[in-house]
Amino acid sequence: MIVQNGPDQAKEALKHARFFPFWLDSTDSPPSTPSLDTEIQCELLIVGAGFTGLWAAIHAKEENPERDVVIIEAKTAAVGASGRPAAILSTSVMHGLSNAKRLYPEDIDRLELLGKENIDGFKRAIEQYRIDCDLEWTGELTVAVGEQGLPDILREHQLYERYGHQAELLSSEELEKEIRSPLFSGGLWSKKRSGIVNPAKLAWGLRRVALSLGVRLYENTPLIASKRLAKCLQVTTPTGKVTATKVLLATNAFAAGHSRIRRRVAAIRDRIVVTEPLNETQMESIGWKHRQGIYDTRTQLNYMRLTSDNRILFGGRLGYFFNNNTDPDQDKHADAYLPLVENFYRTFPTLSGIKFSHAWSGPIGLTTRMAVHFQRYHFGNTIYAGGYSGFGVTASRFGAKVGLAILDGKDTEEAKMHFSNSLPGYIPPEPFRWIGAKITMYALDTADEKGGWRHWWIKMVEKMGFPVTQNELG
Ligand SMILES: Cc1cc2nc3c(=O)[nH]c(=O)nc-3n(C[C@H](O)[C@H](O)[C@H](O)COP(=O)(O)OP(=O)(O)OC[C@H]3O[C@@H](n4cnc5c(N)ncnc54)[C@H](O)[C@@H]3O)c2cc1C
Repeated sequence: MIVQNGPDQAKEALKHARFFPFWLDSTDSPPSTPSLDTEIQCELLIVGAGFTGLWAAIHAKEENPERDVVIIEAKTAAVGASGRPAAILSTSVMHGLSNAKRLYPEDIDRLELLGKENIDGFKRAIEQYRIDCDLEWTGELTVAVGEQGLPDILREHQLYERYGHQAELLSSEELEKEIRSPLFSGGLWSKKRSGIVNPAKLAWGLRRVALSLGVRLYENTPLIASKRLAKCLQVTTPTGKVTATKVLLATNAFAAGHSRIRRRVAAIRDRIVVTEPLNETQMESIGWKHRQGIYDTRTQLNYMRLTSDNRILFGGRLGYFFNNNTDPDQDKHADAYLPLVENFYRTFPTLSGIKFSHAWSGPIGLTTRMAVHFQRYHFGNTIYAGGYSGFGVTASRFGAKVGLAILDGKDTEEAKMHFSNSLPGYIPPEPFRWIGAKITMYALDTADEKGGWRHWWIKMVEKMGFPVTQNELG
């Protein structure tokens, strides 16, 4: 069934939506710690309490419980990307196998192994510290949209086979048993070391662990300036100062406010909507008994998953605001989400008319690498670790570990590898960045329906080093 009068129906469906992340809209949210209002000293200062910052603090304390570790966070833990993702978990630390192959064909075996070690360590830590975060090891399912999506999943399957992933190709009939949508024509279900999590509960759990290990956390304490003194670094906040031996900048897309980091990192937005909980009949109509995290093969990909109370989270509509604006008011109204809701109804017509409880956007630190990189400042005593390009829920644990090793001058295998010692490409400055992003996002939004110049444009953007789709465009 094709939904008639899409935008009106979508508007109605969002009428009572809260423009706020579903994950953060919870009584589990911890009270914030006091902000810094004095001058302090520490050995390691971490800036940012998202996944990267929190994992880095925990790794540092696990390695050396005596190490004096401080985190300063501009707002509260998890308020950035970490409290906003779909939170589909993946093994790859390089934004997927095909991206790893594109970037580091010579290192791919090692990167695959590191990814497996990382997600096993992620699982172990959650168990060890008893973090209650609705973790479900349900796997990742890539669904082909139409016949034209099938070559994409066949290609992905070959890669999975070659690198020893347990992944099963599903025909259209087999896929129907997993998830029912008239758009899907086949699927690829990667069954091990992937699934879904509640990201805010995970971040708040990591925050609790960091505090219990003795990390000092100052929330509502933004870094506003930093400088190198003779033997240390000094970071200024609105009402305090921190003198530290080493600084890890775990500020992800927000770092695009810093002129040097901005050259290689663009702060893109991605948008998500979440339905009201589905009742039994609605659940029955779509199947999805195995609750996999799902990506589709549309040019502007959509991703989807269930929450623990059986809402559908449906995401994937990129946006960019001038000068890397990470918190634009423009995303706090229904119009920004109408195309996403219309896509949702096309995907699940049996749920036509279902209402949406939440809609939000979040910042993605996009680079030409599409995966974490490390920038060195102050003679290596300050390291920026970020740029996961929308694929960092598990990779941020890896980014934190490698960033810390580089900061501490450790001779680990990861710290010596090519990815640790090279940088992604430059991204054009404003106004070219804004113009390019606007055209690209329009092309991504409309390529599947309208084709034409849009495919040519996207190919050109990909040739410039931005693999904005995982697809082979016609
Ligand atoms: C809509 C969306 C969907 C996503 N879906 C997925 C997914 O399904 N799977 C997946 O693997 N990844 C996904 N991601 C990506 C993932 O969420 C991120 O890669 C990950 O959360 C990055 O963590 P981080 O700690 O590096 O950054 P963040 O969580 O953004 O943390 C950075 C922190 O730094 C703080 N900060 C910024 N500036 C300052 C300052 N000057 N002083 C002090 N603190 C500062 C911020 O307030 C913030 O808390 C998604 C992201 C988005 C936005």
